[in-house]
Amino acid sequence: MTPAQKRAETIRARKASDARIAQAQAETQAVVDAGSCPQCGAGVHRNWAITGWFQCDQYGSDGFRKDDAKPACSWQGFVC
Ligand SMILES: [Zn+2]
Repeated sequence: MTPAQKRAETIRARKASDARIAQAQAETQAVVDAGSCPQCGAGVHRNWAITGWFQCDQYGSDGFRKDDAKPACSWQGFVC
């Protein structure tokens, strides 16, 4: 692979990565706008530990999710 080809491949891979991230962020934003988890239907909330992080209200072990009587859910995403 020539240096020019390597540069072109690096740029192509970066653009593909940026597109995947943008798609995931758009999907997360749609969930946040809808206000309900796509996996279990519970609400979603921001986790202030990391900028742009949202999680299902049922995310986490007993004592950390909104309702311990309901099963845990693993949905989470980033909007930025
Ligand atoms: Zn959920």
